[in-house]
Amino acid sequence: MACAAGCVHFVGVDPLAPQVRSLQRSVALPWLEPGDMPGRTEITAGQLVIHADFPVAHQHRLIRELESLRADVSQTLGLPISDEPVHLYLFENPTRYDEFVARRFPGFPARRAFFVETDTSLSVFAAWQDRVAEDLRHETTHGYVHAVVPALPLWLDEGIAEYFELPRAEGGEHKAHAAHLAGRLIEGTWQPDMQRLEAITSAADLSQDHYAEAWCWVHWLLATPDRRALLQEYLADVRRDATTAPFSIRLRHAPGMPADITAAVKAHVQALAGESETAFDH
Ligand SMILES: [Zn+2]
Repeated sequence: MACAAGCVHFVGVDPLAPQVRSLQRSVALPWLEPGDMPGRTEITAGQLVIHADFPVAHQHRLIRELESLRADVSQTLGLPISDEPVHLYLFENPTRYDEFVARRFPGFPARRAFFVETDTSLSVFAAWQDRVAEDLRHETTHGYVHAVVPALPLWLDEGIAEYFELPRAEGGEHKAHAAHLAGRLIEGTWQPDMQRLEAITSAADLSQDHYAEAWCWVHWLLATPDRRALLQEYLADVRRDATTAPFSIRLRHAPGMPADITAAVKAHVQALAGESETAFDH
């Protein structure tokens, strides 16, 4: 669900690294004590290292799903697989998670889960609650992608995570986002505009509309082999060179794209929303 998850990137300072932790402890910052981290269970599942407040079985359906998400993300986006660990810190309930976030990351916007990238680690923090599966698919996707493409543009990062947060059987089709955007089109209050998304550089500035639109572009791009190849080439280029020109420029000049891309994306949203309505009718 949009806005529930958030991505926060620390660069150059790792609040979880032992040397930093001991340094901070020496200046008596109680929120950096390791005792409040989930640590009762630690299991490894592929690239994931799961630290939890409670016993977690390797065989748990969600753990298996998160593990297989690695190959889905890699194959869909044409990215290599990395062995860099993605740490998942799972809190037994929202109260304990909220207290941890308030202590360790004061000033953070309220989020059910979040992803932290530092110069030395990739970490996800989440509470075990009703929507933990969706949240963990979203945040773990960030981890898998960032392990190989650290400098992904924000809109694309979120669009990809929204696409993969759905159960696999949904095929990336986010019905709530499609319905939301289709409603905005009827109201006349929204138009697809990738350049507007590209201009947003802070996760705090992302609204529900932005998450939905970012998903929409990613879904549209992945819907045909030509467009999927274009996205894959772009990701490969960003991986090599973080200063790669924005995707919107490449899209505009790519051969075989519709003359009116805005109209094509609007039609895509309307078709998806129409399909959902038909499905609900039966
Ligand atoms: Zn996210």
